[in-house]
Amino acid sequence: MNTNCDLAIVGGGAAGLILLANIFEKATYPVAVVMINAGYPTGKGIAYSTNNNNHLLNVRVSRMSAFTNDANHFTKWILSKPEYGNYHSDNLAERFVPRKMYGEYLGDLFQSILNSDNKNVSFSLVDDEVVDLKKQGDSFEVLLKNSPVFISKKVVLCTGNQPPISLPGISSIQSEKVFINPWDNKAVENIDHEKPVFIVGAGLTMVDTVVSLLDQGFKNKIIVVSKHGAIPMAHPVVRVSVPHPEKAPASDIHEIYSDLKSRIRSAIDHTEWHEPVLEAVRPFTQKIWQELSIEQKNRFLRHINHRWSKLRHRLPHEMFDFIQSLIDSKQIELYAGKLLNVQENTNDLTIRFFDKSTETDITVNAQRIINCIGPEGDFDKVNNPLLRNMLSHGLISKDPLSLGFNATGDGRIIDKSGNVQDNLLTIGSGLRGILWESTAIPEIRLQAHEMANKVLA
Ligand SMILES: Cc1cc2nc3c(=O)[nH]c(=O)nc-3n(C[C@H](O)[C@H](O)[C@H](O)COP(=O)(O)OP(=O)(O)OC[C@H]3O[C@@H](n4cnc5c(N)ncnc54)[C@H](O)[C@@H]3O)c2cc1C
Repeated sequence: MNTNCDLAIVGGGAAGLILLANIFEKATYPVAVVMINAGYPTGKGIAYSTNNNNHLLNVRVSRMSAFTNDANHFTKWILSKPEYGNYHSDNLAERFVPRKMYGEYLGDLFQSILNSDNKNVSFSLVDDEVVDLKKQGDSFEVLLKNSPVFISKKVVLCTGNQPPISLPGISSIQSEKVFINPWDNKAVENIDHEKPVFIVGAGLTMVDTVVSLLDQGFKNKIIVVSKHGAIPMAHPVVRVSVPHPEKAPASDIHEIYSDLKSRIRSAIDHTEWHEPVLEAVRPFTQKIWQELSIEQKNRFLRHINHRWSKLRHRLPHEMFDFIQSLIDSKQIELYAGKLLNVQENTNDLTIRFFDKSTETDITVNAQRIINCIGPEGDFDKVNNPLLRNMLSHGLISKDPLSLGFNATGDGRIIDKSGNVQDNLLTIGSGLRGILWESTAIPEIRLQAHEMANKVLA
C-alpha cells in the first residue's frame, strides 16, 4: 500500500480536470489529491481527443468557458493564441470552433494547474485504470489495474461517457465489420471506397462519423437508420436572446411541452426561436426533472425525448447545411426504422432493417456498420470494470431509469442499501438520470465549482 490521499479523482476528462482546477483555486489548507486517468489524454476525454478540424463544438464559444465565474475564459484563451489570429473578437463568442481547439484549451489549463503556486495542494497524476473501490472504514481502497492499491478519504467519480457495447436490438453479432464503439478510430479507418457504409443512429455521433468518412474522400452511399429518422436541428446563425421565464414551468410533462411550444410560437413563428426559448428555460431544467415522478420521466423518455434531443442537441448551422446537402444529394439515405438482422459475408455484411415510412423490410449490403447511438448510461451494459465491480458489490446503484448513478442532486452517490455517501461523489454525465441536463460543459463547470467547495469543506 503506498500513497494515502485526501481526495482521489477517478477520470481525467474535462470534468475531472475542471474539478482539479477549482480545487487548486480554492484550497486554503493542505490537501493531497491523486487523479487517475486512463484511455485519453488528460482533460480531453472522448469529446476533445479528436484531431479532426471538422469535428466542431456543438456549443458556442461564449458558453464553453471552464469556469462559472469567468465566462470569457475560453474566448480570451483563443484570442491570446497567435495560431488562432484569424479569429476576431467581434464574432468569436457566437462561433462553433473545432473540438480539437477546446482540447488544446484544456491541455493548457492542465499545464497552468501544474504550474500553480498554490502550495496547499499536493497533486499527482496516475496513468492507470481504477478497477474497483472498496470501503475501508471511512475511507476507500482504490484498486488499480497496473499500480499498487492506495487509500483515499474521498473519491469523486468523473468517469464520464461510456461507449456502447452492443448494436441496438442485436446483441449476438461478433464481426470485425461491426464497429460498436464509434469513437474508436478504427471505425473510420481502412475504408473501402467501393461499398456503402451503414450507420445506426442519426444524432451528433452520426454527424462526426460522416464528417470523418467524407474527409477521406468517401463518395459512396451512407445508409443511416435511426428510430425516428431525423437529424438534429441547426443552431441559428446569430443567437437570439429571450428573457428567462420568471418562474419554472409546471412540473407536468404535458404542460411543460405545451408551455414551451406556446413560448416559441408567441415569440415568432420561426424555427430559429427554438434555441433561445430552450436556453431561457434551461436554468430550470434540472429542477423540473427532479420534481417529475418516475412515471412522468419514463413517459418523457418514451414519447418526448426524441423531439427534445433534436431541439436541444443542435448542430452548428454550417454543419446542418452540410449534412442536409448530403441527404438532398442522396449520398446519405436516411430512414426511420429498426435494425432487424445482420449477416456477415466474406466481403461485406447483409443488413435487414424495417423502414417505418413504407412499413417494409429493406435488405442492403454494406462494408461495415458503425454504431452511432451515442454513449451508454446503463452500467449493466458498459465495459468499464470499475462501474461493473462497484455495481456488483453494491457500492453504487443505478438511478431508477438506468441512465447513470443513483445519487443526490448534488452528486453524493447512493449505495445499493440506500445509504447516501458523503465521501463517494460524482459529477458529469453519470448524473443524467438524476438531473437530466448533466453532460455538457455549462453544467459540468458549475458542478465542478460546487463539488470543489464540498470536498474542501
Ligand atoms: C463526441 C462528443 C462531443 C461532445 N461535444 C460537446 C460540446 O461541443 N460541448 C459540450 O459542452 N459538451 C460536449 N460533449 C459532452 C461531453 O460529455 C462533455 O463536454 C465532457 O467532455 C465530459 O467530460 P467528462 O470528463 O465527464 O467525461 P469523458 O470525456 O468521458 O472523460 C472521462 C475520462 O475518465 C476516464 N475513465 C473512465 N473510467 C475510468 C477508470 N475506471 N479509471 C481511470 N480512468 C477512467 C476516461 O477514459 C476518460 O479519459 C460531447 C460529448 C461527446 C461524446
